[in-house]
Amino acid sequence: RRREHKLPARSRRDGRTGRWNRRYLMERLEHELAVARRSQRPLSLVLLDLDHFKQVNDRHGHAAGDRVLTEAARALQTCIRDIDHLGRYGGEEFVILLPFCDTDMAMAIAERCRRQVETLRIEVDGIRIPVTSSFGVTTLPVGTLCAGDALTHSADLGLYRAKAEGRNRVVWMPLTETMAP
Ligand code: GH3
Ligand code: MG
Ligand code: MG
Repeated sequence: RRREHKLPARSRRDGRTGRWNRRYLMERLEHELAVARRSQRPLSLVLLDLDHFKQVNDRHGHAAGDRVLTEAARALQTCIRDIDHLGRYGGEEFVILLPFCDTDMAMAIAERCRRQVETLRIEVDGIRIPVTSSFGVTTLPVGTLCAGDALTHSADLGLYRAKAEGRNRVVWMPLTETMAP
């Protein structure tokens, strides 16, 4: 049986947010794809990005931006299930892997995350920093095969549309690049 983790524990975490780092997330994605195939269960993936985050840095400073990142990550963690995996994908981008999760449940979890971020109260010198986030959601349906790249790519298309449609929203995108089982 393949070992579940290739990376040692200390190199799986993002130092800023304490969540999984990108390297581990991608390793985990491969594992969850295999689990989904074996168990004949769906797998969903959420990609989210903080809105106008550059403005937070510009207006309130980089340290305030770092605080927003950390608090947003903590807020997201409270909205997901124990079996889900939240990690930092890039600067102010996060991925959530949702095993055994169909589209309806994934959309509900993403919407809960969106609201939780929106209601964060982070103040700098008595001024509240508004924080919102945009989400792309995709699902690997039962009985289909795809590469991890295809899932992240579809979620990215959803995220792109969420930004284009005005931000602070969740957009579902069907998975197109599947392979015959
Ligand atoms: P959009 O709504 O389109 O996502 O706009 P945005 O401003 O969030 O996106 P953009 O990609 O223009 O800017 C992202 C900013 O995030 C730029 C970068 O300096 C900042 N950033 C990335 N990583 C960190 C970090 O670790 N700490 C802080 N404070 N800022 C970061
Ligand atoms: Mg952003
Ligand atoms: Mg970004």
